[in-house]
Amino acid sequence: MKFNTKTIHGGQKPDTAYASVIPPIYQTSTFAQSTPGGHKGYEYARSANPTRHALENSFASIENGTHGLAFSSGLAAIDAVLKLLKQGDEVISTNDLYGGTYRLFTKIYENFGIKFHFIGMQNAVSIEDYINEKTKLIWVETPTNPMLNIIDIVKTATIANKHNVLFAVDNTFATPYLQRPLDLGADIVMHSATKYLGGHSDLVMGALIVKNRDLAERLYFIQNASGAICGPQDAFLALRGLKTLHVRMQRHCENGMAVATYLAQHPKIENVYWPGFKSHPNHAIATSQMSGFGGMVSFTTRGNNFDEAIKIVENLKVFTLAESLGGVESLAGHPASMTHASIPKEEREKIGVVDSLIRLSVGIEDEADLIADLKQAIE
Ligand SMILES: *Cc1c(COP(=O)(O)O)cnc(C)c1O
Repeated sequence: MKFNTKTIHGGQKPDTAYASVIPPIYQTSTFAQSTPGGHKGYEYARSANPTRHALENSFASIENGTHGLAFSSGLAAIDAVLKLLKQGDEVISTNDLYGGTYRLFTKIYENFGIKFHFIGMQNAVSIEDYINEKTKLIWVETPTNPMLNIIDIVKTATIANKHNVLFAVDNTFATPYLQRPLDLGADIVMHSATKYLGGHSDLVMGALIVKNRDLAERLYFIQNASGAICGPQDAFLALRGLKTLHVRMQRHCENGMAVATYLAQHPKIENVYWPGFKSHPNHAIATSQMSGFGGMVSFTTRGNNFDEAIKIVENLKVFTLAESLGGVESLAGHPASMTHASIPKEEREKIGVVDSLIRLSVGIEDEADLIADLKQAIE
């Protein structure tokens, strides 16, 4: 099955009760048994629920994995991966990381005796300098948030394999429409399904996808034991959203390119970060591992003025000033005061999150309206 068919049919069969084409919302906590242990595959809804199961099969299908798991949020999914580790283990991670992931690593898991190395990973070879016998996990986000750096998945996978270290990729920004990390050698793909997979800004959800039974069973054990599952209503909404992922992504890519190109020629704009530009430092890797460049675009204004950036985001009318990304509607954010406020100023400036940085999640509206809106807000 091709990707554009999988988003609709992947892992799906008509429901067994009445052959409904769309999985019903099984809003139940428990399932009747004829005799102790005599059930139809479902006994208690934390352990498994048919609506969630249909979604988990869809997740596995679109990422070319064997097993998918749905969580109550992206961070709950990341939390489940970290629970594979134990005290004394070490993790190597990108230094240009989603703020909430950084907070989870440093404010929660460091307390449990796990050590994190946050490094620039655009040069994959540098990862090896940080590997020792305690290293258990390499955590990568690509493209990164909000600087849109690209990390070479194949090279990182080769290093992880050589040292027998688990390799996880947060694929939230690219989605499997543009990039499939399991095919490129990763062990675990993670999503904030809140973003492009759900696609309509109407739910909060996380996903893990793997291609190995043993790893799937360990993660399933954690999902059930810790209990951060998604509910059946949200699973239904996510399945509905997923069916149009390929159509939405195509338009996100087109509009992303139009907006990035417009901003790049504007005299008030200093830098535009978008991996589709030939001048982007990681453009070659982006081209080799992604089939398009997505709808995320970040930029800075000349003079790097904090107040001016705030004014621009306040003046936008079609773009909504809001956290989050990946929905059909365009959103704008100011990382220094919003998503990355939990990262110390000194740390965030090192990775390029300066005061005037604005991050756009370019939606699927008409491109002329988006450009006109940016023009009036900037000028
Ligand atoms: C939003 C996001 C997360 C966290 O997901 P939630 O669903 O908000 O918990 C993790 N990684 C990236 C790249 C994100 O954009």
